[in-house]
Amino acid sequence: MATIIDGRIVSAAIRESLSREVQTMVSNGLRPPHLVAVLVGNDGGSQTYVGAKEKACHEVGFLGTVIRYPDTVSEAELLAKVDEINQNEQIDGLIVQLPLPRHIDENKVTLAIRPEKDVDGFHDVNMGRLAKGSDGIKPATPYGITLMLKHYGIATEGKHVVVIGRSNIVGRPMSILLSNAGETGNATVTVCHSKTQNLKSFTLQADIVVAALGKPGFLTGDMVKEGCVVIDVGTTRVDDLSKKAGWRLCGDVDFESVSVKASAITPVPGGVGPMTIAGLLVNTLKARKANLAARTA
Ligand code: NAP
Repeated sequence: MATIIDGRIVSAAIRESLSREVQTMVSNGLRPPHLVAVLVGNDGGSQTYVGAKEKACHEVGFLGTVIRYPDTVSEAELLAKVDEINQNEQIDGLIVQLPLPRHIDENKVTLAIRPEKDVDGFHDVNMGRLAKGSDGIKPATPYGITLMLKHYGIATEGKHVVVIGRSNIVGRPMSILLSNAGETGNATVTVCHSKTQNLKSFTLQADIVVAALGKPGFLTGDMVKEGCVVIDVGTTRVDDLSKKAGWRLCGDVDFESVSVKASAITPVPGGVGPMTIAGLLVNTLKARKANLAARTA
């Protein structure tokens, strides 16, 4: 039976260490890191994610502020708020929760955030730095996954990783991080997507599979080799009348059939989700330190 890679445990260890750093900062008379989240509309998923991020900030001693707008907010108003936050030295990190209503250009909003404050790591500048392997803010979910692999001593060097999905927030940056030179990279990476033919022929060769496509139960036991490591990024809400909410979160991996072949696997929930928040918090502390260094330089 596979080892369960528990994102909650890793995330708690990271938060503990961040807490200690913040305490030292504050005892030295410095302001703790401040993260602002902008939330537009009433989407249930977005509200849950932003709520979890705000709670995590407070737990580690960060300042966490949520700015809420109705889904009728104009693009201009949102961009003006982003600009105001960009100029505010008391704020280190800014996230605008996606998706945004259709009348707002998500790319325009993402690019309006100062790269130094872009703790989601979605800005082209941070993506460019990632692609070049230079220092920048790494996208929170893929970064969190590398922290989790490191915590469990799962080496990536020389391994064949198959990433299913090529989105700008998960699949693409994941493939870059794992193939970059460095401790949590040096892998040989194959990226699969909806146009990949005979996807199973690739996943069967993988030492590590990262499933990030948003199709519940897509990866089944017959698609993976004995002893592989499986990271399930998927979080799709599926109807479940046995739950109070009427739904449950479902990953992209068929846990039952894959876990009997894998050597290690992440569950959903409790795997990648908590690591996205951990990645975001680490990025926010990094942004705080950069802000501090810029002011004292
Ligand atoms: P996305 O933007 O919809 O991208 C999905 C990717 O999967 C695309 O590249 C798509 O290919 C590919 N794909 C779709 N169907 C496929 C198929 N049948 N075979 C192979 N590839 C296929 O999704 P995302 O934002 O990357 O998110 C993926 C999943 O992760 C979602 O369930 C999301 O909710 C979840 N997620 C979880 C976290 C977390 O913290 N746990 C964070 C972010 C996302 P094309 O490019 O060809 O269309």
